[in-house]
Amino acid sequence: MKTNMVITLTTGTGSKQFAMSKIARYVALAMLTASIGYIVVSNWLLVQTNSNLIELEQDHQYLNGQYTTLLGTQQRYRKELSQLSDVFDKVVQQRDKLALENSRIDILSETLSAITNERDKLKVDTGSIAGLKSSLTQTREERDRLQAENIKIERINASLDGNLTALDKSLDDLEKMLNLQLPKNYTEDRFERLSILTKQRLFLLNSIPNGLPIKAIRVNDGYGMRYHPIKKTRTMHNGIDYKAAKGTAVYAPADGVVQAAERRAYSGKYIKIVHNFGFQTSYSHLNNYLVKVGEYVHKGQKIAESGNTGRSTGPHLHYELLYLSKAINPEEFVKWNIANFDRIFTKVESVKWASLKNLYPLNQNVQH
Ligand SMILES: [Zn+2]
Repeated sequence: MKTNMVITLTTGTGSKQFAMSKIARYVALAMLTASIGYIVVSNWLLVQTNSNLIELEQDHQYLNGQYTTLLGTQQRYRKELSQLSDVFDKVVQQRDKLALENSRIDILSETLSAITNERDKLKVDTGSIAGLKSSLTQTREERDRLQAENIKIERINASLDGNLTALDKSLDDLEKMLNLQLPKNYTEDRFERLSILTKQRLFLLNSIPNGLPIKAIRVNDGYGMRYHPIKKTRTMHNGIDYKAAKGTAVYAPADGVVQAAERRAYSGKYIKIVHNFGFQTSYSHLNNYLVKVGEYVHKGQKIAESGNTGRSTGPHLHYELLYLSKAINPEEFVKWNIANFDRIFTKVESVKWASLKNLYPLNQNVQH
């Protein structure tokens, strides 16, 4: 038997009635349709998923390849980095070196700058450098010349020292000879005083007759009483007879003026000279005259030649010395010289020496 089941659906607008069998058919159809749709969708999805998987695999493989490549690249980069690091280290070292070099260069640069400044300054003076060079050369030459001069001066000094020593000794000798004691410590004063004294003494020795009037062979007769060879009586001999060959030179014993140059009966050819301070000298038995009356003669001048004129027993010179026109003994005057200057003032009493000492310091050691 068939059972009809009805389903009533009520809504607000009304009610509808549906048979169960019809509904069952619809449901079955719907389920079939849904199943088919599901299978289709599932298959499609599966296919889709498969294709996606394939794509993913492909992607994966690609990515793997990429990774490998990247890894290799990475390793290459690492090697390169390592190399670069080495290079960098070297570069750093180089840089440090360079920095050091740079600081050196800075110092050098400063030095160079300073040198350059100096050079620039010097450049300004280039002209004067040439001048300086030439003046340096001149200075060197001058120095060499001065050194040579110095050597000369040293030699001169040495010889001057020698001369001064010699002069000192000469002064000593002179003082000894002049019989003087002068202060030794004042050389200039000593020299001056010596010079004055010597001049004064030489003046007196040039004025008052002294020394031999002739270079005689010997003295035949001295001054004084004697037995006269011609008169045959004891008579006064007023001079000294010097034996000398005819033509022997006769010299003036002091400065003076010729008072007489004449021939006399007893004296033969005769000369008389007037000297200073009241002295006169005469020369008898001459061979000739070499001076005239009124002529001034100096000590040591040749005035005549000796002979044998007048009353004479042989060639000789009769030499007389007069003081205030009176003959005195010439012996001390003939011996008189600069070395025994003082002696005559005590030996010869016939001359008033004291008043002459007032005019000239004849004897420095004897106070008056
Ligand atoms: Zn005589």
